[in-house]
Amino acid sequence: MRARHKPWADDFLQEHKQYVELNPELNKEEWSTVFQSPQPIQLEIGAGKGQFITGMAKQNQRINFIAIELVKSIIVSAVQKVADEQLDNVKLINYDANDLREIFATNEIDCIYLNFSDPWPKARHAKRRLTYRTFLQQYQDILKPGGEIIFKTDNRGLFEYSLTSFSQYGMIIEEVTLDLHELNDPTNVMTEYEEKFSAKGQPIYRCRARFNG
Ligand code: SAM
Repeated sequence: MRARHKPWADDFLQEHKQYVELNPELNKEEWSTVFQSPQPIQLEIGAGKGQFITGMAKQNQRINFIAIELVKSIIVSAVQKVADEQLDNVKLINYDANDLREIFATNEIDCIYLNFSDPWPKARHAKRRLTYRTFLQQYQDILKPGGEIIFKTDNRGLFEYSLTSFSQYGMIIEEVTLDLHELNDPTNVMTEYEEKFSAKGQPIYRCRARFNG
């Protein structure tokens, strides 16, 4: 996802502290106290412009959501959406998912969403894929026992790679869907990329997997 440099982005994030965690490492082990109501916490990694997290938070008021996005000029769009809806069950973090253990304690998260993660098709970049085993190790650490990863993509290569990665890690694959929209799942919240690719007629793949123990 590309975004033009936005020199005002820092100020914008500062002005929306209600929805943005500027020092997320200070909340490690304390995330349940950060939200208005102590509720299960679900995490999206690579949230882009925030359509998914906003839709999920509106649809699931009894869940707290945290969304992480690496690029500042992209996360500002997510912050604007959450602020427009005045959602008190969402916190946004401008952060690199390489360092999740710095901001979350063991068992702090109930579920992780990976939506249309960058595919990094070249083999030499495999370690950057958000479903590479070093990322899975982090997810296992911060997820509660039985916590799920829910992964959606239009990219067949990344999907196949990820299924193999989950399975080689010993995860339990609970669901694999090769055409998510054919299911007409009323709880499915579309991301920006999902809308774009399904409008072009591409099938959307989804996998739900959890760690074994
Ligand atoms: N999830 C959105 C969607 O489905 O519309 C955006 C998909 S976009 C292809 C992938 C997003 O993941 C980009 O916004 C990118 O900046 C973000 N991203 C990639 N690597 C990341 C990382 N290590 N930590 C946090 N965000 C990351």
